[in-house]
Amino acid sequence: MEVKNLHKSFGDNEVLKGIDFHVNQGEVVCVIGPSGSGKSTLLRCVNRLEEPTSGTIMVEGTDITDPETDLDAVRTRIGMVFQQFNLFPHLNVLQNLTLAQRRAKKRGKAEAEETAMKNLAKVGLADRAKAFPAQLSGGQQQRVAIARALSMDPDMMLFDEPTSALDPELVGDVLEVMRQLAQEGMTMMVVTHEMGFAREVGDRVVFMDGGVVVEQGAPAAVLGNPQNERTRSFLSKVL
Ligand code: ADP
Ligand code: MG
Repeated sequence: MEVKNLHKSFGDNEVLKGIDFHVNQGEVVCVIGPSGSGKSTLLRCVNRLEEPTSGTIMVEGTDITDPETDLDAVRTRIGMVFQQFNLFPHLNVLQNLTLAQRRAKKRGKAEAEETAMKNLAKVGLADRAKAFPAQLSGGQQQRVAIARALSMDPDMMLFDEPTSALDPELVGDVLEVMRQLAQEGMTMMVVTHEMGFAREVGDRVVFMDGGVVVEQGAPAAVLGNPQNERTRSFLSKVL
């Protein structure tokens, strides 16, 4: 995925001011930066939940900012996991995982359920298929949300602060699922405040501030020896 000179404004407020950014196949890129720096907006543009003001976003050679692009097809190729899990409360876990597969991928019930169960097993929740979201902990709900995204067989996964809404003791299980996904070679873009995860699992860390990429590089370099004063200042507050 390659983003070139991406701008996004909300009215007079220019939130992304010319972002150049790429994620290679199989790479895990962690995006860090202060609140309001445009991290979520960048992710949402990549998934076309937001309309970029200008710039291009190429995914496997297709410009997804082209008005001709089929947005449903883009979204089935790029899975997204949000801070708030966004599960359907009136559907059980299995139904949450099969709905989009049946609608967007036109899978039959048996195939959708088989794919769902495979991915529930992957996140360690095969035994909760019949539970409703409210009966699960936040960490379990987030793992269900990850399994739901994986059930679409995406080429790439976007995570927007997936552990920020969780009680501290539930964070580890979710990070472990993400670590395992990374090990399996999933291409991932992860907005996170979990610096330990960024350091250990990330192939690259990108620091954003004020709508621009300020600094990026290997996690050990960016987190351990930041070159830019803004990066240093941010890290001194979060580490
Ligand atoms: P981050 O995820 O880094 O905290 P965001 O991308 O959420 O930052 O927000 C960056 C800026 O964009 C903020 O000033 C926010 O108020 C503004 N913004 C985000 N989404 C919208 C929207 N839908 N309408 C208007 N302003 C928005
Ligand atoms: Mg955000």
